[in-house]
Amino acid sequence: MSPPVLRFAPSPTGLIHVGNARTALINALLARRGGGIFILRFDDTDAARSRAEYAQAIALDLDWLGIPPDRTFRQSDRLADYAAAAERLKAAGRLYPAYETEEELELKRRLQRARGLPPVYDRAALALDDAGRAALAAQGRAPHWRFRLDHRLVAWDDGVRGPQQVDTTTLSDPVLVRADGSFLYTLPSVVDDMAMGVTQVVRGEDHVTNTAVQIEIFEALGGPVPGFAHHNLLTLPSGEGLSKRLGHLSLAALREAGHEALAVAAAAVLVGTSHAVQPVADLDALAALVDLHAISRAPARFDPDDLPALTARTVHMMPFAAARPRLAALDIGGGEAFWLAVRGNLARFDEAGAWWACVAAPGAGAIAEEDRAFLAEAAGLLPDEPWDGATYGAWIKVVKAASGRAGKGLFHPLRRALTGRDTGPELAALLPLMGRARVAGRLRGEVA
Ligand code: GLU
Repeated sequence: MSPPVLRFAPSPTGLIHVGNARTALINALLARRGGGIFILRFDDTDAARSRAEYAQAIALDLDWLGIPPDRTFRQSDRLADYAAAAERLKAAGRLYPAYETEEELELKRRLQRARGLPPVYDRAALALDDAGRAALAAQGRAPHWRFRLDHRLVAWDDGVRGPQQVDTTTLSDPVLVRADGSFLYTLPSVVDDMAMGVTQVVRGEDHVTNTAVQIEIFEALGGPVPGFAHHNLLTLPSGEGLSKRLGHLSLAALREAGHEALAVAAAAVLVGTSHAVQPVADLDALAALVDLHAISRAPARFDPDDLPALTARTVHMMPFAAARPRLAALDIGGGEAFWLAVRGNLARFDEAGAWWACVAAPGAGAIAEEDRAFLAEAAGLLPDEPWDGATYGAWIKVVKAASGRAGKGLFHPLRRALTGRDTGPELAALLPLMGRARVAGRLRGEVA
């Protein structure tokens, strides 16, 4: 079998939200898991609403999520191909000119509704002869172009929803080309999916009806027809649908709020499936959990209040390989030993900086007067270097015996003197990172 080709096809008309991220991630992770290709395609044929800065922001969001595309296309670069496809459809009698104004169409719909009929386009334009068309053109009317549906049952086996069928008799012939010659998304998407060899279209369930129409267009253009899967949509906790236009739960805002990208990704993919929302070690682990059959049919609520806990749990299990470049970017040394020592105490990744300062920067601990002598005694009992993970245990045993202290009275003053805090990573792990001179200095109340 040839490798899968999947795509994420946002229109760059706003910041993408976590529901869009769900679509992007499922596609990217299926491509990754199958050794295939993940394409980012900007559906920017609506020149009035599309903006280059939104396209840039979307590419940045995908980078942040860890799913940079293998290829990027924009539909505005491919208009000649769409025009050629439109000509082929015209020649095949599948694309016909229609002249009604929006007001005339609205009137027709109102009359249909009043008569209890579905508001489906009546194909009046299809009945025009050359003279009729010429007369309308003479009035200065420029046609828009409608795809003549086959009026049949279009069936496909949906990757999420199982066997689907749509009777295209119930649909209006869709407008593919506007009167100004610009393309709606429907035809370009099919032309691109064919040209780019897309094997599976995974998108939100708001596109189910489009799929029936687009399968007819694929077939009219000579196919092949890709597989289709429509996932449920995410909503706000209130149940309200996510809106790009209203700026709901944008990835940019979630990033700025300090949530871990991998936590956002895990939540975006797993919410509304039969898998529990859970932290993952990396995107490969998340890819292994992508399961189209596990996606529920009902919309799923996405609660951003769940993200801090998921971020913390994600950081707690983050392997050093993933942490290393980010520690380096924050000028945090200490290597793997430091990371493994502190990660379990971080609510957010950047808190590692404070622990690195505690380990490596000059500073004095907190010493209560009544503990001063005890701490000085403990300093005198420190073993010689080299130190390792066993040093602390051996030292504590000696300190315990010499001081007669135990429990809180033993450990608490040591921790306060060494770190300045009441809680934190295991001292056994921190001690070798601090080194003997610093530990001794802090126990003696010196800046070390
Ligand atoms: N531009 C469409 C959207 O954002 C793409 C749908 C599709 O994946 O084909 O909904």
